[in-house]
Amino acid sequence: MTEAERDLRTRMVETCRKMNSTGLNQGTAGNLSARHGDGFLITPSSMPYDIMQPEDIVDMAWDGTYAGRRPSSEWRFHRDILKARPDVDVVLHCHSTYATSVACHHRTIPAFHYMVGVMGGTTLRCAAYATFGTQALSDAAIEALQDRKACLLGQHGQISLGKTLDAALWMAVEVETLARMYQQACVLGEPPVLSDEEMARVIAQMQRMSYGLGPEEEGSNDVARPRKA
Ligand SMILES: [Zn+2]
Repeated sequence: MTEAERDLRTRMVETCRKMNSTGLNQGTAGNLSARHGDGFLITPSSMPYDIMQPEDIVDMAWDGTYAGRRPSSEWRFHRDILKARPDVDVVLHCHSTYATSVACHHRTIPAFHYMVGVMGGTTLRCAAYATFGTQALSDAAIEALQDRKACLLGQHGQISLGKTLDAALWMAVEVETLARMYQQACVLGEPPVLSDEEMARVIAQMQRMSYGLGPEEEGSNDVARPRKA
């Protein structure tokens, strides 16, 4: 095993434990994969994260063959998403309480809050229900993830994507937080949604921020900038 693979396995175990500490994980329901070599690394089936070690992570090829322990029962959608989405390297799945509660109603979360834009569009979609571990579930997930970094899975849970382990974990926490806020907001009736024009502005602003140019309009004197020493 190379140093780089050892390091990736170690960081995957750390990310899984953070899924526990952030409250995303319920029992052993979550799973995590990361692009690696001619395939990907994925968490093993039914192993609690607090006892999982880097060597327990499963090395899987694109054709579904694997070395070591039995992979997560959801390996199929991990593989299909990593194959279909060259823009991401990590797939995180969990049954976090609020995201799953909204998904149990097959609700797509609208732009009731501007942070919905961080998933890449004006909605956080909910995929159609399909039996866990099946090709039908994988197909439904890929459809719901079109132009998005996250989706809900009908009567099941959520999937969050990222270029890195930290980014995917951050996204999963964001999905859970939005689902929680949406549910609370719905107590007072279905909340109003931001217009498509405003969401386009939000998404453009988010892209500017992640490109490191700062959130503010260029050409203005009133911008936040580091003080000269
Ligand atoms: Zn699941």
